[in-house]
Amino acid sequence: MQARTDVIVVGAGVAGLTAAKLLARAGRSVVVLEARDRIGGRVYTERGTHTTDLGASWIHGVTDCPVADAAEAFGMRMVEFTVGGYQPDSRPIAYYSPHGTRLTDREAAAFAADVHTLDDVLVEIIAASDPLASYREVTEAALAATGWDQARRERIREYFTHRAQEQYGVEASHLAAHGLDDDQILGDEVVFPGGYDRLPSRLAEGLDVRLGSPVRTVSWSPAGVTIHTDSEAFEAGAVVVTVPVGVLQSGDLTFDPPLPAEVADPLSRLRMNAFEKVFLRFPTRFWDAGYAVRQQGDAGRWWHSWYDLTRLHGTPTLLTFAAGDAAREIRSWSDEDVARSVMTQLRRLYGASIPEPVAVTVTRWQDDPYSRGSYAYMTRGSSTSDHDDLATPLAGVLHLAGEATWTDDPATVVAAMCSGHRAACRVLGEDIALENAWGGDPAARKS
Ligand SMILES: Cc1cc2nc3c(=O)[nH]c(=O)nc-3n(C[C@H](O)[C@H](O)[C@H](O)COP(=O)(O)OP(=O)(O)OC[C@H]3O[C@@H](n4cnc5c(N)ncnc54)[C@H](O)[C@@H]3O)c2cc1C
Repeated sequence: MQARTDVIVVGAGVAGLTAAKLLARAGRSVVVLEARDRIGGRVYTERGTHTTDLGASWIHGVTDCPVADAAEAFGMRMVEFTVGGYQPDSRPIAYYSPHGTRLTDREAAAFAADVHTLDDVLVEIIAASDPLASYREVTEAALAATGWDQARRERIREYFTHRAQEQYGVEASHLAAHGLDDDQILGDEVVFPGGYDRLPSRLAEGLDVRLGSPVRTVSWSPAGVTIHTDSEAFEAGAVVVTVPVGVLQSGDLTFDPPLPAEVADPLSRLRMNAFEKVFLRFPTRFWDAGYAVRQQGDAGRWWHSWYDLTRLHGTPTLLTFAAGDAAREIRSWSDEDVARSVMTQLRRLYGASIPEPVAVTVTRWQDDPYSRGSYAYMTRGSSTSDHDDLATPLAGVLHLAGEATWTDDPATVVAAMCSGHRAACRVLGEDIALENAWGGDPAARKS
């Protein structure tokens, strides 16, 4: 048994590192137990010939955003890239019709206007929806209310399907009607050409992080907690558990006693998604200038959106996503098979003579035992408060944190950071400033 510490934090992703940093700076002894042989969790940058963010890339809106504040304090270079929220028209996007012809600016503007109209109609329909309704059902109800002709409705239906896929990695029929309520972006979106992993690296500085330490059991009572990894046991006054929903549901990490209904019930209504990134690097750039290319119609059923990362990566690079059914289907495919499938689609748009990619990277978050998907979505029957409810403190000693525990903006790095802050405040029994995690005055109190 290791010497008793004040707090154990399980998981060295952004949630865990934020909590640990704040607690350590408040004078508590803290040990972070991390299963993988690296920190960062779902913020993971591959550094080789190129710097590639395999997990999170975007800050979805820098206005009043603590992650943007931290990034600035840590000197991380940010580049504006405001297409990460699946906006129809925020920046130049080349749309292709179902027949493969490029939409004129006028046609693209009319299409985007229809998307905005439907978004407006949706607000009230979602507010009045049945608790078991899906995002597909509310979208259909909104479409029916427009009176548009069949073809016009089909384009917009397809757009909302793609939005559910890209934003939550799930088909619209499986997502709760309220599943995209948080989908609001304040200010520009940015990405990190130098890698998002600088954020967890800087947060981890000075912390006692034990890598390669998968936690198996968390025993808890009002007197404190005992944590077992495969080879060690730890005692502490409190624990902050930040593992993803998929790990909590897998049984790989168990609680003794089991999580009570107030936490277990919301947990049962959230689910890890299927969402993978596909990066293709080319010898030359053959696609339209702008931020993104989108395909309408049946041809875009799987591969419908490509993001031009050339100005970030220095070489011609497209990013596309396999999401929902597509992500599940390609799970057993090789990277080469995935690339072939994407290229078939790109050739429809740009012709047979476009070059083969020189490098392909396909992420495999679904197969990673420590994430089991990319982030959590709300199943039908879930309500937005399930996120915050998941973090209900137990016996004053057990605190869950992580992206899925933050109602305001779940599934993001912001959510992870804010949930880590909330857990630290609860452990301390007082409000402390989140800025303390990146160098503010540790004595400062939240105003
Ligand atoms: C492909 C992809 C794209 C994304 N895009 C964006 C984006 O553009 N913008 C955005 O804001 N967010 C994005 N996200 C979501 C974002 O990455 C996450 O919401 C956030 O990083 C989650 O942080 P966390 O600390 O809650 O969890 P994690 O980062 O998952 O941290 C949990 C940690 O717990 C560890 N762990 C698991 N099991 C155990 C165990 N038994 N014992 C000990 N440790 C364990 C894990 O290894 C991990 O390090 C994306 C995610 C993915 C995967």
